[in-house]
Amino acid sequence: MASRRQRIYGYWLQKGKFTITPEEAEVVRQIFTYYIEGMSFSSIARKLDQLNCPTCRTAAWSRYMVSNVIKNENYIGTPELPRIISLDAYTKAQVRIIQDAHKRAQARTTRDPHKKVPVPFTGLIRCGQCNAKYIRQYNGKIIWICGTMHRKGKAACHVKQISNDVLMEKAAEALGLRHFDERVFFEEIDHISIPEPCVLIFIFKDGHAITTGWQNKRGAIKHTVATRRAISKALQENYAMKRKANSS
Ligand SMILES: [Zn+2]
Repeated sequence: MASRRQRIYGYWLQKGKFTITPEEAEVVRQIFTYYIEGMSFSSIARKLDQLNCPTCRTAAWSRYMVSNVIKNENYIGTPELPRIISLDAYTKAQVRIIQDAHKRAQARTTRDPHKKVPVPFTGLIRCGQCNAKYIRQYNGKIIWICGTMHRKGKAACHVKQISNDVLMEKAAEALGLRHFDERVFFEEIDHISIPEPCVLIFIFKDGHAITTGWQNKRGAIKHTVATRRAISKALQENYAMKRKANSS
């Protein structure tokens, strides 16, 4: 019987059990090595084509296929899937993803001064679950999270974070603007309420409200707690090393 189950590169399903496909597993390891060494997703894709590495199903490798491999936590092993990549290699790759995103965000901020105005939302977003104000955080990009959740953890209040970019985009939409405008925002909006996950209510100073929704970006990586800890530790070590290098 043909399985409709999505194929996972590096494995094949035999009698209901995933087994490693050695040739593909080798490509997965190679992809991680290239990436950790500093190659981009596109250049890795080109390299794999030059080397005639087998793909999942299409004729050629694309940068999306490479990035899907890099962002697939399954390769460090799960109860179902045997391990192909060490946690160390996986962590190094995730650290690079975060640092690259950080660099891109900084470059954007320098290029486009409008991007560096996360301030207008400060104190104006309220959590509909616990009524606390949202606070600004940074995890490679600016995000806003419920203050209670930040101080006391997910058990105290568990609501979704929202990225600053999404917030600006949705605010512009609510205000009927093509691009976010801080001045118009302050003139018109009293506050923003997030009553439940993925719902935003803009409360205007004249009393009317606009309710809208948002979706978390497709393809965002959701890691297990253990992997998240490993990544965060590696990031901290990395920053500590940089600080040391800068101060000497
Ligand atoms: Zn809350």
